[in-house]
Amino acid sequence: MFNFIRSDLDKLAAYVPNPGGEITTSLDRLDANESPFDLPSELKEKLAWIYQNKIETNRYPDGSHRELKEAIASYVNESASLENAVNYNNISVGNGSDELIRSILIATCLNDRGSVLVADPTFSMYEIIAKTLGISVVKVGRNENNFEIDLIAAKKAIEQNNNLPIRVIFVVHPNSPTGNAVTSAELDWLRAIPEDILVVIDEAYFEFSQTSIVGELEKHPNWAVLRTFSKAFRLATHRVGYAIAHPRIIAALEKIRLPYNLPEFSLNAALLALNNRQLILSSIQNTIDDRQRLYESLAQHPDLLVYPSAANFIFARLKNYSETASEKLSQLTQNLKERGTLIRHTGGGLRITVGSTQENDRTIERIINYQF
Ligand SMILES: *Cc1c(COP(=O)(O)O)cnc(C)c1O
Repeated sequence: MFNFIRSDLDKLAAYVPNPGGEITTSLDRLDANESPFDLPSELKEKLAWIYQNKIETNRYPDGSHRELKEAIASYVNESASLENAVNYNNISVGNGSDELIRSILIATCLNDRGSVLVADPTFSMYEIIAKTLGISVVKVGRNENNFEIDLIAAKKAIEQNNNLPIRVIFVVHPNSPTGNAVTSAELDWLRAIPEDILVVIDEAYFEFSQTSIVGELEKHPNWAVLRTFSKAFRLATHRVGYAIAHPRIIAALEKIRLPYNLPEFSLNAALLALNNRQLILSSIQNTIDDRQRLYESLAQHPDLLVYPSAANFIFARLKNYSETASEKLSQLTQNLKERGTLIRHTGGGLRITVGSTQENDRTIERIINYQF
């Protein structure tokens, strides 16, 4: 029975998102790199007004995304001081950048056309989504000190995978969970990647790092940048992400996406956020200041090695690696949960989102005296 279901799916576990509800919302939720700040209430009121007065619930949403794409293009140009290099036909909008990751994989690797290259530890969705499509993932490591991609291994992997060539490389800039920005050696490597491989640079945390490679997209038509409204723009609930790329790549993504992949309410929320970006992004400085405070405070812990971060989270590992390290970190994560703070144990360390100042105070207090 049920043997109509692909047998390779039996080996996969469903991604378990955090449960909502009162139990979760009473905790300091520092495990998903969301903004700790809800939308300013004046913008929520505007959005409510839009829902009341403009949105017809009986109609399909705007499936062209034209207005939002134009607003995104102008934000991208502004954020990288580009004249008008990017316009709406360089943009595709997804139901979160997760949808765009899936569309990219469908457009490039499906039907045993190719595999994906990532450097561990990194964002887990690339592998999770690839597996649901039966696409194989080649992994290389990173430098243990600064988390630079093992470029020698990466080059080898590209040369060796001849029967199933690598078609896509995913690089997060700055990386999650480790928080490091792309290095100049990594950039040189990416610039030299053959044009028959798609390079995806995921800039989900761009607004916190303020470093972007979009200025080089014109020179590298085989590059694509992913961004999202889920982090700095404080709209995780609305599920809006976008890709910036050559129109040929965008056209492929547009063929794959479902016609009405974004609800009208989410399209409006993203547009409103862009039109009020100064107000919304004004919270970033607070996050950056507190990132430094968290970094300095947690570094006082005798057993923790805390890494510099260019994003809205901090990564830490145990100073002395031992066989029980993973267990010890799990125990701390569990202990913190019991005391009211959710963090993520991943990539051989702890990933702690920078929250509100009160949340960060509690994080420091709850970690600094913990004995492993
Ligand atoms: C949070 C995050 C995203 C955003 O995903 P959405 O589907 O847009 O919410 C994408 N990439 C990375 C690396 C992230 O950390």
